[in-house]
Amino acid sequence: MNTINNLLNAASFAAKYHTGQTRKGERGEPYINHPLEVANLIANVGGIDDIDILMAAILHDTVEDCGVTRDEIASLFGETVASYVLEVTDDKSLPKAERKRLQIEHAPHLSTGAKIVKLADKISNITDITNSPPADWTIERRREYVEWGSSVVAGLRGVNAKLEAHFDSLVTRARSAVEQAA
Ligand code: ZN
Repeated sequence: MNTINNLLNAASFAAKYHTGQTRKGERGEPYINHPLEVANLIANVGGIDDIDILMAAILHDTVEDCGVTRDEIASLFGETVASYVLEVTDDKSLPKAERKRLQIEHAPHLSTGAKIVKLADKISNITDITNSPPADWTIERRREYVEWGSSVVAGLRGVNAKLEAHFDSLVTRARSAVEQAA
């Protein structure tokens, strides 16, 4: 049974592994801002206090981006957290377009915990693309990203009405920001 102490351990673990990584937006924010924001959205927009889900949110990019293994997460933080993290980890041996297609295809089949993490992840990423777009992204690329994120989220619905409503108002704002920049 994970506790708030384990949650802080996970935050510290993720901060250590994301050291030196930055977000791709023009502000170049430290990467750790992102998993912390994902966990914060789940807790404070979604009203969810399941510690395993919050820990998975904090750790969700450590396997995909930091070379941490599933076994390492399982032994430190438990099987439930490890399985949520694995469910939201892309197979990086596949080409990017295929990974993006598979996210849409897999979304409806994820566990509820993994759906919540993925929904908050999409909120965080689309917020960043809207508020701090990467300097080298074209308008078209931003537009495609928002529409792809919406397609993934279509398969995640039914897990948390507050996060879904937050996503919907964000997408409205993101689309108009893209059109204004075009
Ligand atoms: Zn993420």
